[in-house]
Amino acid sequence: MNILERYHAMEYGPAPEARNEADAWFAARDFGKALFIGGDWKAASGGKTFDTSEPSSGKLLAKVSDANAADIDAAVSAAAKALPKWSASTGYQRAKALYAIGRAMQRHQRLFAVLETIDNGKPIRESRDIDVPLAIRHFIHHAGWAQALDRDFPGHKSVGVVGQIIPWNFPLLMLAWKIAPALAAGCTVVLKPAEFTPLTAILFAEICERAGVPKGVVNIVQGGPEAGAAIVNHPGIQKIAFTGSSEVGKIIRKATAGSGKKLSLELGGKSAFIVFEDADLDSAVEGLVDGIWFNQGQVCCAGSRLLVQEGIADALIAKVKVRMSRLRVGSPLDKNTDIGPLVDLTQLDRVKGLIAEGARQGAVCWQPDATLPSSGYYHLPTLATGVSPANILAQEEVFGPVLATMTFRNTEEAIELANNTRYGLAASVWSENVNLALHVAPQLKAGVVWVNGTNMFDAACGFGGYRESGFGREGGREGMFEYLAAKLPLGPVIKPATSSAQPVEQADGVAIDRTAKLFIGGKQVRPDGNYSIAVATAKGKLAGEVGLGSRKDIRDAVSAARACKSWPEATAYNRSQVLYYLAENLSGRANEFAARLTELTGANAKAARDEVELSIERLFLYAGLADKFEGRVHQPPARAVTLALHEPVGVVGIVAPDNQPLLGFVSLVAPALAMGNTVIAVPSERYPLLATDLYQVIEYSDVPAGAINIVTGRSAELAGVLAKHDDVDGLWLFTDAETCAKAEADSIGNLKRVWSGNGRSLDWASEEAAGDALLRRAIEVKNVWVPYGD
Ligand code: NAD
Repeated sequence: MNILERYHAMEYGPAPEARNEADAWFAARDFGKALFIGGDWKAASGGKTFDTSEPSSGKLLAKVSDANAADIDAAVSAAAKALPKWSASTGYQRAKALYAIGRAMQRHQRLFAVLETIDNGKPIRESRDIDVPLAIRHFIHHAGWAQALDRDFPGHKSVGVVGQIIPWNFPLLMLAWKIAPALAAGCTVVLKPAEFTPLTAILFAEICERAGVPKGVVNIVQGGPEAGAAIVNHPGIQKIAFTGSSEVGKIIRKATAGSGKKLSLELGGKSAFIVFEDADLDSAVEGLVDGIWFNQGQVCCAGSRLLVQEGIADALIAKVKVRMSRLRVGSPLDKNTDIGPLVDLTQLDRVKGLIAEGARQGAVCWQPDATLPSSGYYHLPTLATGVSPANILAQEEVFGPVLATMTFRNTEEAIELANNTRYGLAASVWSENVNLALHVAPQLKAGVVWVNGTNMFDAACGFGGYRESGFGREGGREGMFEYLAAKLPLGPVIKPATSSAQPVEQADGVAIDRTAKLFIGGKQVRPDGNYSIAVATAKGKLAGEVGLGSRKDIRDAVSAARACKSWPEATAYNRSQVLYYLAENLSGRANEFAARLTELTGANAKAARDEVELSIERLFLYAGLADKFEGRVHQPPARAVTLALHEPVGVVGIVAPDNQPLLGFVSLVAPALAMGNTVIAVPSERYPLLATDLYQVIEYSDVPAGAINIVTGRSAELAGVLAKHDDVDGLWLFTDAETCAKAEADSIGNLKRVWSGNGRSLDWASEEAAGDALLRRAIEVKNVWVPYGD
């Protein structure tokens, strides 16, 4: 045997990480007093505890205080008490606190890593080299944001007391993603870790004490779903930030509907790992190991669907199998371990159940020949081939070490397969042709796309999903907005529409009878039900009649909006010109619109003229901003650039207000169009003729068919249909509070992004009701990571 053969034949010896420091920490702690509230360590007021155990052995680690609603209430009170001083502190003061936390964490870095591995089961290599350093980076990065608030977020202030709920797969890292931006923004927090992994959050609270974070600014409560629900429902909380399953995300969306609480949801995924035939296969295999077997596949953005181009499928699968056979499954505290145990027995059973069902549905599941440790919740890495797109392994988030493989023939098919999921968190694209990769990335419905890489994260780069992967971003500039509030200029309270007696008497001077239909797919069409509703003048006479739109009309409008590809795909310059043209054509008919405003609302001639002029000005504004509200380039501490692209939300429903009916309509529709969304607008129920009068303006302005659709009728009913429609991506609601709340609750089907005035309109004439505040709501930020170097 020569040296090389001998080298290859050698077995790894054990390389255990010492755990004596962690054991000493366990011995010194009273886990029965594990609630960190107002700077004190408290027992749960109900006296309850829950068990946390070690996934590698199943042994009990600690009995931890289990908070009830009274404890959550105490934590919220402590946070509320600390809020005025903390939010009024200077950016420099908050920056110093964040910096101190980061540095203190660095001093206890190894203890954090060992505790995380003991509690969660993830290999020490990962907790030591990824989770903990990234968490520290988050605090140090956000120290800077604390001082940059006035510069980068003018007009914004802290949102208030924040409730934060996190999962067990990255306990410390998720805590950092939540707490760092909140503190930078001047919020105080009540954070609940997951019940499987309470430990590093306890150590983190100790760090806060040592770093001199004022009492009550950070409160950490332990417990399960009940404690989580108490946070979600607490009236003293102004924002909920949740990371976890899509199922619980939907429960939270429903529970917060109508409450006015700001909400961000970071949920599950079924991310595609796309390998084109010109990819460097060995690199792709290494990427795949990281993409699906990192943290045993218990990663929200795990590349759990391998989509491989047909011609290289066999070669790639063969390489993957060889590599899988070399993955070392074993004690997570061993520095050579690649795959540790899953977090809990329930998770292990769930993964096994999904694999069995996938196999029953036709998948062929392959595992390397390896022996698992005799105790603990271990599972072998698993490769499923022959997976049909409808197979449970292709559709459901397994959250375990299971890779489902499918093949594609060409680029279009790859994109279609990648997007064939209700999720939209992340994707990886592998090709040596960067032009191809950057052609594919914008077409993937995912919040993060890695080119020739996977699982790259940084505090400066936003992370978050599309579709049922949730909304909101964590990290970077867009993550800061989640914890800030801008004071929008409030308009009148919107009362529910009453179907009072219909006017019948014609207003004076009505010329030829004009039938206002609906505007769908670029055509004026009769409402499906063929009913009309009367529109009254300010004097209570009949101004005209408009179509009574129904569910069917909204469905047609959504289909038309979805089918309109030319608008979202148009260049920003192109969209800009169309918006200018709209302004120009509205300007040509300004007198007519002013007269209509006076007739319907009773506004005097000057006020009416001003509203029309301002509407034209708004169109001009958004025409000009269409090609200026752009993304950014980040330079993370890696050999990569991150392109933060602004993409349209998609199909957006807009329920427009009654006040300033022309200006309100234009102020909402124009920014949505400017960013490339296609729109279904429900005009003011009281003054719909101002919108139907726009049909000809739209027809003369080169707006592509389907880019803007207008359905008149009962706002409450149509808002409800839009909310429940799973092909509507966003919904902006300026209607009565009850309708807004109901629509928010009904929006959970596809977790559409809802912006609701909660029964309050805005003062549309105000400068703050125009510009970035609206454009931000009209986009999703997609972060595309592009590595460089050999
Ligand atoms: P989970 O939804 O079961 O639990 C998450 C947290 O919510 C826990 O703290 C839990 O106690 C709490 N909770 C449960 N029910 C609740 C309720 N009704 N009200 C309020 N809180 C409640 O998720 P999990 O199993 O802990 O974590 C796995 C999930 O998290 C996966 O779907 C994964 O994709 C997702 N995840 C997403 C991201 C992201 O950034 N998008 C990151 C990590 C994990």
